[in-house]
Amino acid sequence: MNNQNWVDLIRDIPDFPEPGVVFKDITPLIGSPGGFSAVITELVQRTPKDIDVVVGMEARGFIFGAPVALALGTGFVPVRKPGKLPGETITTEYELEYGTNALSVHKDAIGNGARVLIVDDVLATGGTVAATARLIKELGADLVAVAVVMELGFLDGRKNLSEQGIDEVISLT
Ligand code: IMP
Repeated sequence: MNNQNWVDLIRDIPDFPEPGVVFKDITPLIGSPGGFSAVITELVQRTPKDIDVVVGMEARGFIFGAPVALALGTGFVPVRKPGKLPGETITTEYELEYGTNALSVHKDAIGNGARVLIVDDVLATGGTVAATARLIKELGADLVAVAVVMELGFLDGRKNLSEQGIDEVISLT
């Protein structure tokens, strides 16, 4: 399946989760055997190979991050909402348009100096990636790159991340 075909499997859902928002729904893409495999192949082709661990954020980052980790031959580390991980965790909060959100990771999940790749489905404002990057830094690891399937350019996520020193952002679309 070529690039054009799998991109067409991401559908726009207007007014979700609230009026005025057009939600990029990746479920038709991951539900298509050819589409899912094509997008994972492209993610793997486009990302650096000298990675020790792939980190994905709840929940859609798990769907894309885990197969990328398998293909790169690395482990996969889940970053989750607080209260979901059973071991000792560290947590960081970040601002949303209305209110705040928080993300946690197991303290012992990533070794000091590990080379990390973050994988998620959609980069919007960059708040989720920036918060994950803070957790990775707090664990003493090295964020090498961020890979997403889709970037919502009008929300300036790439610029926001660059202002925080995160410049290696790979977006397939
Ligand atoms: P950000 O923190 O504003 O960059 O938002 C990115 C996070 O929100 C990612 O974890 C995405 O899964 C999710 N997200 C934001 N907008 C969309 C969308 O249109 N489709 C799917 N996920 C989205």
